Amino acid sequence: MADLDSILRERFGFDSFRPHQADACAALTAGHDCLLVMPTGAGKSLCYQLPGVARGGNALVISPLISLMEDQVAKLHEQGFNAARIHSGRPREESRQACFDWAEGKLDFLFIAPERLRVPGFVDWLAKRKPSLIAVDEAHCISQWGHDFRPDYRLLGQRLPGLMPAPVIALTATATPLVQKDIIDQLGLKDCKRLIHGFRRTNLAIEVVDLKPSQRGDRVLELLAQGERLPAIVYVPSRKECEALAARIAEQTPCQPYHAGLSAADRDNAQSAFLGGDVSVVVATIAFGMGIDKHNVRTVIHTALPASVEGYYQEIGRAGRDGKPSRAILMWSWADRRLHEWFMERDYPPVKEMRTLWGALSQQATDFESLAAELDLDPNALGGRLDKLAAQGGAVIDMDGYVTRGDGKWIEPYQRQLEHKRDQLDRIVNFAQSNGCRMLALLNHFGDRDDGHACGKCDVCAPQQCVLKSFREPDEQEMSVLQDIISALTARDNQSTGKLFRDEFEARLQRRDFEDLLGALEQNGLVYTTLDEFEKDGRVIQFKRICLTEAGQRTGRELDGAVMLPGRAPEAATKGARARKKTSTSASSAGTADPELFDALKAWRMQQAKSEGVRAFRVFGNKTLEAIAAHKPKTKDELLAVPGIGPAKLEAYGEAVLGITRG
Ligand code: ADP
Ligand code: MG
Ligand code: ZN
Repeated sequence: MADLDSILRERFGFDSFRPHQADACAALTAGHDCLLVMPTGAGKSLCYQLPGVARGGNALVISPLISLMEDQVAKLHEQGFNAARIHSGRPREESRQACFDWAEGKLDFLFIAPERLRVPGFVDWLAKRKPSLIAVDEAHCISQWGHDFRPDYRLLGQRLPGLMPAPVIALTATATPLVQKDIIDQLGLKDCKRLIHGFRRTNLAIEVVDLKPSQRGDRVLELLAQGERLPAIVYVPSRKECEALAARIAEQTPCQPYHAGLSAADRDNAQSAFLGGDVSVVVATIAFGMGIDKHNVRTVIHTALPASVEGYYQEIGRAGRDGKPSRAILMWSWADRRLHEWFMERDYPPVKEMRTLWGALSQQATDFESLAAELDLDPNALGGRLDKLAAQGGAVIDMDGYVTRGDGKWIEPYQRQLEHKRDQLDRIVNFAQSNGCRMLALLNHFGDRDDGHACGKCDVCAPQQCVLKSFREPDEQEMSVLQDIISALTARDNQSTGKLFRDEFEARLQRRDFEDLLGALEQNGLVYTTLDEFEKDGRVIQFKRICLTEAGQRTGRELDGAVMLPGRAPEAATKGARARKKTSTSASSAGTADPELFDALKAWRMQQAKSEGVRAFRVFGNKTLEAIAAHKPKTKDELLAVPGIGPAKLEAYGEAVLGITRG
């Protein structure tokens, strides 16, 4: 094999490899298919360019963007290589010439855009001289789970076999495990080397805190009152909260809101004021931060559970680009999960319900209203479902809102989408709940095997450095449960946590409190959990097993001073809120309908429907009433922010509803 080091120095003019480049170059040069996932700027291009040279030139590169191609080709020319490109921005004559040069073996590199693969005969022409390797840059574009999905990339899977036996390398900066799998499957990579590196952020301390929604705003204000925590970005889940929190912060620190409801000019102003340092805090919905390059952000706060781990990683990644110590604080509670689930049920109903809707459609165009009546569905809910169905081809909605049935192929892709959403939610909840090092959990999520070392900075690794989280001694009752867990494991190790709970603890405490105590044992190094799985109805179901560590075996029931629990939130401590029975629906949490309010709203709806001579759902669907009873709007604006309420409903029923919610 050619000496890769000397090629690096003599042909590319670099002194040494950057981390992980040498491994990737060696694997590809030796003919292995590779998936290379490294952050932007890590130097991925060299990992196909150097092997291209080592394998004698004639390397084929697929790239989705003209600007990227032009940039790479210009650099390669500078370095003295013979590189050509074929894309829609090039004169025809020169593209023809590139094809001839390729066929004669004159090129070191040929860059092509994916849509070229559509041109009849093009791949056959390339096949006249088999490439020495094929590089697929920005490979996440092949996956429909990737945010830049490019349908033409899908052609690669069909066209590549004609160009074999070249080894293939797929490169990207942003592949989640699902996208990684998709890339490997779609490209048909065989016995693929997965090279996933560089996701560890060594200057970022992650802290995850269990806090009731009502307590979070005050904590944010306290945190940001300290100058060394600025500049800061605060991510919030809704526009309403964005405006409200930004206004509160602005009383103490220059601060701007940023969300999709603002005008483009307002958003630009907020962004440049933050970049320029006139504003030291931005409160943003997920819309903020794309392409923002501010190096000295010290703190990123999330005031609610984000929708996915990928999104979360990207957002906290905006802290500490300058390499100095920075902190990411995530506030969440179980109520956040319920809220996400509620939105999911509303936005992604089960296949069965979608099938009923599809079944109700026909070739005959139906109008929206009669469809809603036939299915007894709230028109808003119906609209959301029809959009989902239409997106997958299962329904066709014309300009006037008439609906006809589409083909039946929507079920599988819809199902996949549903599972993907559920999986994303499970993963972020697992992250928030986990008792291990936060950075390691993120690396694991992306499949970055790294060196496996705990970060030493997060709330689990360094609890004493936490800025929000506090710790306390267990009370008597908690202590006796902790001791009994240890005893149960001493008698029989490696038990399923669910079974252990049902067998021995169900009568004494709630599952959630039990899990918290297990978590504390784990955080204090006395037990550890492993994931196991079983199959049921064709689905793989994961569950946790729990084992004693050596320290746990040594300590036994002598737990005094060995276990610290997360500090109680002030409210919860005084009211003993956690001790209440499951059945009392907590009225304050945003995701749960207040039963009394719900009943009052239903009673009003019945009367209203009677007086209008219509069926009840025409006034409001149950989901909308539930949402009102959960959000408890007190003003017209707040009511309008409730899912399912549009301007027309506000106009017709706003006063009446607010009369009830205001009590
Ligand atoms: P990526 O595709 O991973 O975002 P690039 O391949 O575009 O990154 O590389 C980023 C920059 O790093 C380029 O300017 C490239 O020339 C430079 N670079 C890559 N490898 C090395 C190296 N071993 N030594 C010095 N510079 C390098
Ligand atoms: Mg690149
Ligand atoms: Zn850690």
